[in-house]
Parts: sequence; structure tokens; C-alpha cells
Amino acid sequence: MPIPLLDLKAQYKTIRDDVLRVTEEVYESQYFILGPRVDAFERDFAAYCHSKYSVGVSSGTDALLEALMVLGVGHGDEVIVPAYSFFATAGVVDRLGAKPVFVDIDLADYNIDPAKIEEKITARTRAIMPVHLYGQCADMDAINEIAQRRGIPVVEDAAQAVGAEFGGKRAGALGTLGCFSFFPSKNLGGFGDAGAITTSDAAMYEKLVDYRVHGMRPKYFHHYVGGNFRIDALQAAILHVKLPHLDSWTEGRRRNAETYARLFAEAKVSDHIVLPTELEGRRHVFNQYIVRFPAGRETRDRVLEHLKSKAIGCEVYYPLTLPQQKCFAAAAEGSYPNSDTAADQTLAIPIYPELTGEQLEEIVKEIATALP
Ligand SMILES: *Cc1c(COP(=O)(O)O)cnc(C)c1O
Repeated sequence: MPIPLLDLKAQYKTIRDDVLRVTEEVYESQYFILGPRVDAFERDFAAYCHSKYSVGVSSGTDALLEALMVLGVGHGDEVIVPAYSFFATAGVVDRLGAKPVFVDIDLADYNIDPAKIEEKITARTRAIMPVHLYGQCADMDAINEIAQRRGIPVVEDAAQAVGAEFGGKRAGALGTLGCFSFFPSKNLGGFGDAGAITTSDAAMYEKLVDYRVHGMRPKYFHHYVGGNFRIDALQAAILHVKLPHLDSWTEGRRRNAETYARLFAEAKVSDHIVLPTELEGRRHVFNQYIVRFPAGRETRDRVLEHLKSKAIGCEVYYPLTLPQQKCFAAAAEGSYPNSDTAADQTLAIPIYPELTGEQLEEIVKEIATALP
């Protein structure tokens, strides 16, 4: 039996009745964009994130874009981003005419290395944008210390990290603004594109609400040039049905990570594979379970080919660093050795909560088979 990287059908079976009920309610109401269902979801999502407010938006990318717009990022500005992330983290900076300034990552958590941030700050730095990659928070104490001393806002790219914690605080409540994606493969996924921005700053919240609808308040009076960043009522209704299940799904992912740790230890392959570690004071939500093969790209690719031949889902997130992307050639400066290493040596393997013990055993067995 094939084991996919992610199986959303298993999850759907458990929530089908509720999803179909609220979907029909939305159809009957013929109220499709924003409105009371969005308000209700936003209230509960903000509470989940330990934040005062949340604003539902059209995607995770638009959450990042709108957050930077509200902070006034524009032409000639600079935004500090990790050199290793999904494209959107840096793409939104460039779209505003600003320059993404890349900082290398730490291989311990694949997140921006705070020790390398300060040397990249200039008079034009308008924001620091850490990414909580794969579901583990970046070192927010160190990042916030620098940001506060320099008076620079922090935008969390928490797209992969809903429910992740750092020092008992949740992702989205650790910076000035928190950006989430509800892309279907994220831990809280919609039935299409959607996202959210969190904040505990009332003035910032009002601006976020306005920027979402072309900077408009009241109707047809525009104070800012925002955009159409609205979330559908249908997505909010479905996300609201899913939210109460999120903690148990996350526990399933964390349980699978523990099982992997035990199984890989039993397989005696620790010289050949580096497993993800949950750093002290953090709660990892394992949107992805990333293993690294320190022998290098050839070994990684051999394991990848072997798993594919056994119909076991796996994927390289991400094969290129951001500075290696053709469109960012002009913004790349210096070297990003840990990011290069991550791009060459890492592989995502299945971690979704419904995986069975037998499936986890099979995955570990096949990886061990492909190793020397
Ligand atoms: C998914 C993701 C985004 C973008 O979210 P979309 O909803 O796909 O637009 C941004 N940053 C990171 C790190 C992501 O994983």
C-alpha cells in the first residue's frame, strides 16, 4: 500500500458531517465574503494564538504582503528574512519594491540565526521577518531583543506553525504581527486558499481591517491603498469547524515524531541521519518532519529515489535557497552555508496524524535499507 506524504481524506472522514452542514448554511445564507462567520472564526483563532485580534485574509502570502504594507514597507526599504524558506517570505518583500536581506539559518532548527541578524541591519531596515519553519518557532527571545533595541517591528511568518510555542507563548503572539496560511497542507487547512494575521495592538488591528478592503473606511472612502485580501465565508466556516480538532491533530503529529525517534534509534542509523529536535522551551507542531543526511546530496537523493520506488511520499522542501533563486540574484550577498546544506541534505517524510505504527515502521525500514 502506498503511503502518501499527506493524506487529507482520512481527516475529512472525521469532520465530514460538520463541514457539509456549515457549507450548506453558507450556501443558504448567500453571504460569501467576510461577515458574521468570518468574525466568529477570527475571534476563536485569535484566542487560539494567544493574540488579541486576528484578521482573516485570502492566503498566507497575502497575510505577509498585507502585514508589510501596514508597516509601511515600500520602495528602497529592506526586510530581514531567512535565506531558507518558502518563496513567499521573500517574494512579498520584493513585490513592495523593497529588498529582501537574507540571513543564514541555524541547522539546529532550520530557522534564521539570530547571531547573524545584527550585521545585516541598516538605516533602511523596516522589519525583521523570522519564519517558524516546519512548525518550530525561531529563537524569538534573541530576535525580539535585537528588534526592540533597534526599534524595528517583527513580522512572524507562522504559515507552518499554528499552535507552535516559544516560552509558553504561541506563534502569532511573539512578534508585532503574525502571519498564517490555511493552505490545505498546513496544519489547519481550508478547502482552498486562506490565511490570517494576528496582532495584540488595537491600532494595528484597525489598519489591518482597512487594508484588507483597499484601505477603505467607511465604504468608498479610501485612506490607504490596500488590496483585496478578503477571506471567503466558506473558508472561515470550514476552518471554524476544524479549529477545535487542531490540538488533537497536533498531538498526533508529535506522537509520530516520538515514534520516529525511537524507530530510527532502533535501526541504528544515527551516523547517517539527523532527526529534527525540539529545542528547549519550544513546542514543535511538525507541519513537516525533516530528516537530514549529513553525507550530502547524493545520499539524500538516493533515499528519495528509493522511497519513491516504494510509493512512500517524500519531498525536498526546498531544493534551492532563496538567494539561489534566479529572481533574487541581485539581492544575494555573501554566502549562506547552512542554508546551502539544508537545500542539499534534507528530506520531508510523512508525519500526518492518521499514520499507523506499521506505516511508520515501514518508512523507517525503507530509509534504513537505502542507507549504507
Ligand atoms: C505556505 C507558506 C506561505 C504562503 O502561504 P499561502 O497560503 O500558500 O500563500 C508563506 N510562508 C511559508 C513559510 C509557507 O510555508
